[in-house]
Amino acid sequence: MANYNPKNFLILAVDDNSINRILLDKLLKKEGYKTKILSSSEQVMLCLTEFKPDLILLDLMMPNINGLELCEQIKLNPHFQEIPIIFITASDEKQDLLKAFDLGAVDYITKPFHNQELLARVKNHLELKFTRDELRKALVELEKLAKTDELTGISNRRNFIALAEREFNLAKRQKRSFSLLILDIDYFKKINDNYGHPTGDYVIKSVAQQCVECLRKEDLCARWGGEEFIIFLSETELKQSIIVGNRIKETIENQTIIAESHQINITISVGVSIYTEKDENVNQTISRADKALYRAKNHGRNQVVAIEN
Ligand code: GH3
Ligand code: MG
Ligand code: MG
Repeated sequence: MANYNPKNFLILAVDDNSINRILLDKLLKKEGYKTKILSSSEQVMLCLTEFKPDLILLDLMMPNINGLELCEQIKLNPHFQEIPIIFITASDEKQDLLKAFDLGAVDYITKPFHNQELLARVKNHLELKFTRDELRKALVELEKLAKTDELTGISNRRNFIALAEREFNLAKRQKRSFSLLILDIDYFKKINDNYGHPTGDYVIKSVAQQCVECLRKEDLCARWGGEEFIIFLSETELKQSIIVGNRIKETIENQTIIAESHQINITISVGVSIYTEKDENVNQTISRADKALYRAKNHGRNQVVAIEN
């Protein structure tokens, strides 16, 4: 790990023996770690909530709740189960150690512990945890990126199709309704030609934002292609979808987009379709919205056209 810094980690050590506690605290602090040292297992669960340590050093034999029971409690709690636990044990407790691994401990150190060995094991497991956490964060970020359209920040086409297919199946099974709108900016080529591609991009972003602002949280708006958007309206009948389509159309028509001192006015055409029971897949519902959009373009643009079935 390139920038391993003990200062970034908090280690919780639990031991009923006061000499061990002092030794551990001194050793870890000297290395640069932040520490929290407890003398009894009863205090541990509360302390975890408050401090959320990066690693736990746990004495195996303690009065009342012993180390094994405590380990089990920690591993059962979804908030804390990822925290690595290293046991500190006397060498004659081998049988208990197997149990400790079964319960999810990552390692053990025998008493009296060797300072360098303890530090090496601690570092090892913190590095592993750090790497795992980073990977997990990267994965979450990647999953988000895979669903998002880079320019507008709204859902991309692939994510829309995946969600629409799922909703389509639900609608079929549960006899629910949904509508689709496909929007296309009118004469968009002229925007690019007159103001340049970056301004064209800005207009596309602005339209995405205005669409989202016109919708409910449960609706999904995605970038369908260049200057085209698609909207999924759950539990919405055709009449209501036409109203939504007109609301978006009018909002966009009435809004002057200011980009690099240009005042740009645009209009959009909207095609609307509604799911019908005879649709075999969501592509058929999408196709009707597309056909309706085509009609809106042919009838003069800046309008909403719906195809019922
Ligand atoms: P209409 O839809 O009214 O028929 O006319 P239009 O001029 O909008 O027609 P068309 O759909 O053929 O043109 C869309 C243009 O959008 C073509 C393409 O150069 C441009 N475009 C596609 N993606 C982007 C993009 O990401 N950014 C910018 N700036 N332009 C894009
Ligand atoms: Mg267009
Ligand atoms: Mg187009």
